[in-house]
Amino acid sequence: MSDYRIETKCVQGGYTPGNGEPRQIPIVQSTTFKYATSEDMGKLFDLEASGYFYTRLQNPTNDSVAAKIAELEGGTAAMLTSSGQAASFYAVFNIASCGDHVVSSSTIYGGTYNLFAVTMKRMGIDFTFVSPDCTEEELNAAFRPNTKAVFGETIANPALTVLDIEKFAKAAHDHGVPLIIDNTFATPYGCRPFEWGADIVTHSTTKYMDGHGAAVGGCIVDSGKFDWMAHADKFPGLCTPDDSYHGITYAERFGNEGAYITKATAQLMRDFGSIQSPQNAFYLNLGLESLHVRMKRHCENGLAVAKFLESSDKISWVTYAGLENDKYHALAEKYLPNGTCGVVSFGVKGGRKAAEEFMKKLKLIAIETHVADARSCCLHPASATHRQMNDDELIAAGITPDLVRLSCGLENAQDLIDDIKQALGE
Ligand SMILES: *Cc1c(COP(=O)(O)O)cnc(C)c1O
Repeated sequence: MSDYRIETKCVQGGYTPGNGEPRQIPIVQSTTFKYATSEDMGKLFDLEASGYFYTRLQNPTNDSVAAKIAELEGGTAAMLTSSGQAASFYAVFNIASCGDHVVSSSTIYGGTYNLFAVTMKRMGIDFTFVSPDCTEEELNAAFRPNTKAVFGETIANPALTVLDIEKFAKAAHDHGVPLIIDNTFATPYGCRPFEWGADIVTHSTTKYMDGHGAAVGGCIVDSGKFDWMAHADKFPGLCTPDDSYHGITYAERFGNEGAYITKATAQLMRDFGSIQSPQNAFYLNLGLESLHVRMKRHCENGLAVAKFLESSDKISWVTYAGLENDKYHALAEKYLPNGTCGVVSFGVKGGRKAAEEFMKKLKLIAIETHVADARSCCLHPASATHRQMNDDELIAAGITPDLVRLSCGLENAQDLIDDIKQALGE
């Protein structure tokens, strides 16, 4: 599939049926797999032969879908996880452990921020958060001798900042560590971070990849480009024998192309078990088949709605990197030439109360804690996800009391604009 363009990979990547085999990816709804001899199975346990033995570690349905996502991102190996949260956790924990340190962009998904700043901190891993707009000097100053990775989001949820991936990749590589990029909002249709120097990509497939609000899931993809052995002192988990896995040294046995995902599967998935169900992987694949068609429409609708909001005198500000006046427009033109995403955030004149009134009057656009699916939805963080904060605390967290986050779905753009207009009383 590697020579085909991304649209073709969305439809047919990851799975090629043989003669007389099912055209659609089969759902292998089985926890376990049968072998003729114990020796056969022993080889699988020793990672000497490839095959399946227990669905907590690997399943053929999941592997076909993961292979498709690896092709879309241009990576060498990938694995599905039960959620985006599991993907973020595994991606970092696979190379950082107690006593280590990670540099992260400060504008990341709230759930990821909590995972890093609270839960993983409790596990002994320290995070330094830097502004995505920091200078190279500020970025370099965040590194410590025990830094093991750098993390950021292509388009941040919900801040909608666009990351200068090359700047972050250079700093990571100058310090001998990989750059991990959460590419959820951009999707590989919009941006392929490996082409800009990223080493590992994560996704909440719950969002645009599934695209229909049907299945929670996550994915991790390895570019295969990071040279673990060249930095063996930093990554003992990959570069020294794993006693919990028959003394295998992942980087030696599986090379740069396969070491990272094999370790995450054989060790983290074995022990934590956050596997995606084969049924959900099947739904995810249905979403992926139309990803390129849907993303184009999400971006068109997002831009049309953002332009309308920019022109309305009932709106105080709009953030959408596709707008020419947006602070991140130049970075979006560089990294996201096919469009950014369908999510727009804006302020309603009159503050918190006006935002609440506006949302109450919407008819077509539903109030939901979700983004990035076929049906348009919106959220007022000040009265929902962040309601425990007062106005001063909200502003400190970068969320103004008037902020509305709107995820433009696949409906007719004019119908969305008309709904917004009537809710604004225009
Ligand atoms: C939603 C989201 C996550 C978490 O994914 P879940 O599938 O909800 O666990 C991580 N990163 C980003 C950018 C997200 O939008």
